Amino acid sequence: MKNNHVTVLEIDLNAVDFNFNYFKSKLHSETKILVVVKAFGYGSSAIEIAKHLENRVHYFAVAYVDEGIALRKAGIQIPILVLHPQKANIETIINYNLEPNIYSISLLNSFVIKASHLNLVNYPIHIKFNTGLNRLGFTKININELAEIINKQTALKVTSIFSHIAASEDLNERDFTLQQINDFKNISTEFIKLLPNIPFKHMLNTSGIFNYTEEAQFEMVRLGIGLYGFGNEQSKTAQLKNTLTLKSVISQIHIINKGETVGYNRAFKAESTIKTATIPIGHADGISRQLSNGKGYVYINNTKAPIIGNVCMDMLMVNVSNINCIEGDEVVVYKDQFHIEELAKSSNTISYELLTALSQRIRRVLKKS
Ligand SMILES: *Cc1c(COP(=O)(O)O)cnc(C)c1O
Repeated sequence: MKNNHVTVLEIDLNAVDFNFNYFKSKLHSETKILVVVKAFGYGSSAIEIAKHLENRVHYFAVAYVDEGIALRKAGIQIPILVLHPQKANIETIINYNLEPNIYSISLLNSFVIKASHLNLVNYPIHIKFNTGLNRLGFTKININELAEIINKQTALKVTSIFSHIAASEDLNERDFTLQQINDFKNISTEFIKLLPNIPFKHMLNTSGIFNYTEEAQFEMVRLGIGLYGFGNEQSKTAQLKNTLTLKSVISQIHIINKGETVGYNRAFKAESTIKTATIPIGHADGISRQLSNGKGYVYINNTKAPIIGNVCMDMLMVNVSNINCIEGDEVVVYKDQFHIEELAKSSNTISYELLTALSQRIRRVLKKS
């Protein structure tokens, strides 16, 4: 069904290209690039981003199986790593030619049974080692058992081994990160000695590419939020281009007299006569209710218009007393990365959460010159 909603997220593919090339230029020419398009491509459009980059990258990654299926159904043919597969999805993963992150012995055993039963040979799997994030993965005590299981079968082949850094953006945690990198190197060396083939290695996310390409570039990196223009600190974000602009229109303008209130719970009370604009986007679309009552703002005719009252489910109201505007005028809800970072801060979260909270009701529009 065609989406006719007036609230749109513009995705600037030229800016995506700029950011992609920026990170590529930081890497050795032979380093593979995996682009992470989980959570609808960080709220953008996983399918459009994947189609746009498919010929230039080596891998895509998604968190869950359904996200990988959506990419396959859209015609994406390059390898897709599923970062968080579940036992219940093994057959589906194989049917769609997706490549699982194997993070536990029991998941590995289940995969071996299924893949052997299907007479598969050398089906690609990726082994994750936990070096300090303590989220998913094996530790060095698992190395021998892992190798034993793998060497007893031919259905699966360890294509890569990887780990994830807990605080790659935080240089105060540099010692811890270097320890993680060192542990991963040692585990890899020990594990690879026991395998029939040599898998490739990868560890770095966006901030890792900014901060640790000397120490931990390995054969591949996993680029996520950086592609979309965020560097996890201002000076780094400033080197990237904004890819996402969230736009809407003014549905209605009201004159509110002194003493009148605006919105649910009468959370805003006018101290003088003001002019408000109602915008068709709300907390169901990912505009946090924490941005109510002046914590957040949009731009109308290039001027800041603060949110007044509580953000509603499907709309919000802003103060436009000082702005020359009429119904139908464009509203810029997320102007650029810096605006998003500021709103994230005001709602006690990070850009990742704001981006991925954008509802599927919002129409995605591609921009390319
Ligand atoms: C999400 C994710 C990434 C990408 O992280 P960014 O900070 O967005 O670059 C990389 N690796 C793993 C395992 C992830 O879960």
